Amino acid sequence: MGDALTISNPATGEPIARVATDSAQRIAEKLAAARRAQPEWARTPLANRLAALARFRDRLAADVEPLAATLTREMGKPIAQARAEITATRGRIDFFLAHAAGVLADEVVLDDAAGGLRERITWEPLGVVANVSAWNYPYFVGGNVFVPALLAGNAVLYKPSEYATLTGLAIVERLGAAGVPAEAMQAVVGAGAAGAALVGAAVDGVFFTGSYATGRRVAQAAAEGLVPVQLELGGKDPIYVCDDAPPAVAAAAAAEGAFYNSGQSCCAVERIYVHRRVIGPFVEAMVATVRGYGVGDPFDARTFVGPLARAPQLEVLAAQVADAVAKGARVLCGGGRLPGPGTFFAPTVLVDVDHSMTVMRDESFGPLIGIQAVADDAEAVARMRDTEYGLTAGVFTPDRARAERLLAQMPTGSVYWNCCDRVSPRLPWSGRGHSGVGITLSTHGLRTFVRPKAWHLRAQP
Ligand code: NAD
Repeated sequence: MGDALTISNPATGEPIARVATDSAQRIAEKLAAARRAQPEWARTPLANRLAALARFRDRLAADVEPLAATLTREMGKPIAQARAEITATRGRIDFFLAHAAGVLADEVVLDDAAGGLRERITWEPLGVVANVSAWNYPYFVGGNVFVPALLAGNAVLYKPSEYATLTGLAIVERLGAAGVPAEAMQAVVGAGAAGAALVGAAVDGVFFTGSYATGRRVAQAAAEGLVPVQLELGGKDPIYVCDDAPPAVAAAAAAEGAFYNSGQSCCAVERIYVHRRVIGPFVEAMVATVRGYGVGDPFDARTFVGPLARAPQLEVLAAQVADAVAKGARVLCGGGRLPGPGTFFAPTVLVDVDHSMTVMRDESFGPLIGIQAVADDAEAVARMRDTEYGLTAGVFTPDRARAERLLAQMPTGSVYWNCCDRVSPRLPWSGRGHSGVGITLSTHGLRTFVRPKAWHLRAQP
């Protein structure tokens, strides 16, 4: 064993657990064990693997309350949102259970009896894959990887974030109880050093969710092994409210998109552009909505905005506000840290922002949003595209043709018409630019975890 990790409750600052972390040596042993276990797991009939993951899904349903409480205690997610994440994870698992057999089935692409030639594709698991995960939606972002990876016959070394370790351990324990062999699904415990050791080990694929800064380091480390690397990274996701959109309706959706999970979502609304004809009523409705949010104890079911999971992010948010105000922005509500021991930042709305300000350029990942007026669709498109990230973009208008014309110009993996901050198991989830490479979810997100073998079969030599 290496060092120990102290896990604290971000709402109170109190330590709640100490967990031994894995040294590089221990990670190498876990990899060797996974390598021994993986071929047998891959040979296990798909029906058995499906049954194990279905039992895991049912376990999540039975244990929503204790699992939600663990998540809320260690990362501060408001309890209603913790329950919602676990419940929605079951729907994602159902999607993979329904589609695994079809996606993983052999395909005969040529059957030329007269010529004696047959061509076939089979899909083989990658082997042992590393899953290095973020803390903000540990069930979603972990499950997007380990569920399809296990169904496809891979073994998984899963490193939960140091801010969601207890949740990660609870997940691995339940997968084991559901029938996934212990060595085919192992937790790797620790912070950045454990993550670095894992992605630097001789795994057969690296699946990472986290920040752009860490993602770059992960890609560099994994390049040595020449294995598939998938990076699901951050965003600076914009929405545009057109002049024909009902401002109050758009404001309610935008506020939820910006402040759900205390703003700590990869696809959270991070920039808002509003046509100047409707910006007055939009801002008024937005501020009224945000002022109405319950802020505080994440165990209170009425709380919508809880503490930040990571204390250092308080400084990042404060610096973005200070930078914006120094350059002419106005604070309409919130503006700074709330008093007390927890890591609470008041839900903050800024107006009169522009792209010289860090709040419109760098991922905030907290309860902070800037609203900028635009003159027309062309300006909105130019502003929305002015970012290195490329995760999602949304447009609010009753005019479908207008929305589709605008959304077609977004260099992002997902686009939203009259909605935002949304992920569907049926649709591929992917980022462009600094938001990453690769695909999870949808049938494509199952294919991610296999590689093809092309069979050229001639009956006669
Ligand atoms: P992070 O980059 O700080 O950490 C992510 C994981 O990497 C953690 O498990 C961490 O321990 C590990 N890690 C740290 N240093 C490492 C290294 N050198 N080598 C290998 N692993 C290392 O990110 P975070 O704070 O956990 O998550 C927040 C970020 O994740 C935000 O940018 C958010 O937008 C992004 N995110 C993206 C998606 C998506 O689907 N695109 C989903 C959720 C979160």
